[in-house]
Amino acid sequence: MQAGLDRETLEMTLEAFRDFARANLPTERLLELDAAEEFPIELVRELCGEGLGIQLLFIPEEYGGMGGGAFDVYRLCEAMARVDVGIATGVLATFLGSDPIRVGGTDEQRRYWMTRLAEEGLLMAYAATEPEAGSDLGALRTVAVPQGGNGTVTSYRITGNKQWISNGGFADLYTVLALAPGGPSWFVVEKGAPGLGHGRPEVKHGIRDSNTAVVSFEDVDVTRDRLLGGEEGQGLVQAQLVFGYTRLMVAAFGLGAGWEALDRAMEYSTTRIQAGTPLSEKQGYTHKLIVPHAVRLEAGRSVIEETAVRIDAGEGSLNTEGAIAKYLSTEAGNAAAEAAIQALGGYGYTHEYMVEKIKRDVRITTIYEGTSEIMEMTIGRDRWQAHLKTHGQHYHMEAAAMESLHAKQPTVGADTAALALHALAETFERARINRLTRNQHVLLRLGELAALTEGAASMARRAALAAEAGLSEKADCRFGPEVLATMSRVNARDVALRLATEGLRLVAGAAGDAAGVAQALRTPAIQVAQEGLIADMDRVADALYRRESTT
Ligand SMILES: Cc1cc2nc3c(=O)[nH]c(=O)nc-3n(C[C@H](O)[C@H](O)[C@H](O)COP(=O)(O)OP(=O)(O)OC[C@H]3O[C@@H](n4cnc5c(N)ncnc54)[C@H](O)[C@@H]3O)c2cc1C
Repeated sequence: MQAGLDRETLEMTLEAFRDFARANLPTERLLELDAAEEFPIELVRELCGEGLGIQLLFIPEEYGGMGGGAFDVYRLCEAMARVDVGIATGVLATFLGSDPIRVGGTDEQRRYWMTRLAEEGLLMAYAATEPEAGSDLGALRTVAVPQGGNGTVTSYRITGNKQWISNGGFADLYTVLALAPGGPSWFVVEKGAPGLGHGRPEVKHGIRDSNTAVVSFEDVDVTRDRLLGGEEGQGLVQAQLVFGYTRLMVAAFGLGAGWEALDRAMEYSTTRIQAGTPLSEKQGYTHKLIVPHAVRLEAGRSVIEETAVRIDAGEGSLNTEGAIAKYLSTEAGNAAAEAAIQALGGYGYTHEYMVEKIKRDVRITTIYEGTSEIMEMTIGRDRWQAHLKTHGQHYHMEAAAMESLHAKQPTVGADTAALALHALAETFERARINRLTRNQHVLLRLGELAALTEGAASMARRAALAAEAGLSEKADCRFGPEVLATMSRVNARDVALRLATEGLRLVAGAAGDAAGVAQALRTPAIQVAQEGLIADMDRVADALYRRESTT
């Protein structure tokens, strides 16, 4: 992964996108597209073509692109999702579609296709999912049969159906996962290839202005040089190589859509008077419908930013961290949009106020690029291995790091995050002793708890870095160090309490000894850590509404 753009170039690119959106995608237009289930192909082409050239962001400079990294792509994806997740999906399909080329292609293939993407603004589709192969891509049935004679492969003949393919009816170029004799492999297929077809656009719950279609291959012949990497059987490995990065993109969609819904709810609540005062001044409203969601979204952002910095620094694909970022941010975005409907009351339930559309749109982010349950499994399995390899010390060591952070920065919630990490380590350990992960449910719940706890630790680190002016220069800077510290404290308390209750439920629920488990999880300390919660929530509400803090 390339190191990325400088801050000025990134900000200029984001501003150019926002200008484009203001001019071409006002609220009324977006609502029309949604109601008509229309994919605005000309606009998406302008976005990716000569008009704006947004796809240049992720194309390496050597092929005529801007050479953006994971951090830049996250910022752009968030900005796009704030406008419209459906249109953002049209752009995402090109990002995803080109990934097998970028990471799996030979030098020659990369140069040829990435240069064409940069110069021609080709629209891509990423065709992996099949009717029988969704989460389990290994079950794919699309085949690529080698053609030729005398032991020489000259071409492949592709046959099969791909399902739910974004841009499936409009793409200029498809990357297709198909089963060759050597195993699953990626192929590039161009529009117009004989035998390539697509179904009617799917009628969907949300992102109704995106195009999703079946893509069919009936004896589609591609020359040998369309096999990415030149070697069969590399497809799933190549897909794995980019999961950390691609999941960050969808994580950023959850973040952008969630914040857009929440910002709309906050704006509404300042002017909506009920019982004599604006809703924004009612604590029972803000502390249920606004504050917890802002905090959860920012916990998601912490993991996204931390992971993006590490990917850009060359730390590898970071699949599990990408899964944590996606899981936290998309679940938070979905919950925030749901709360935004409630926050607008009857108006929220109608089309006109947008939050209803955002809620339907953001829903997809917990499904595509790996469902939330697959994220829980990925995280649970990986951290289970880490627990076993370190003889149960993995999360205790993370807790020790939080305790050191607390000594340096006592206000960022690191002490409470440390309690959560210790409780997580104990939950894992008791699950091991009692052989509980034989229950898939327990493994997935452990994945969830690990994600929440790592989110809390990440947020404490982010607040500490903000206090030391050590965040990336490209980091989102909506909230200052004090507000981030307050949010981190609120989040860490919530997560620690989840550990004390859910950890207990899982372990004592299956193996008994509730009192012993509660002691091991340090439940009394976690309960004491709740002190001060309401005052901190008041401070977060004041910060969100830019009010003088009264607490
Ligand atoms: C609008 C839209 C756009 C899309 N765009 C693309 C695209 O461009 N390219 C592409 O290739 N795909 C695309 N997809 C497909 C998407 O990635 C898949 O729908 C997704 O990965 C889930 O696969 P599935 O739908 O087959 O569900 P399944 O895998 O059948 O899952 C169904 C349910 O079972 C759960 N589940 C699955 N496996 C397990 C397990 N082992 N243990 C426990 N629970 C499990 C899942 O979490 C889910 O809740 C798109 C889908 C949609 C709806």
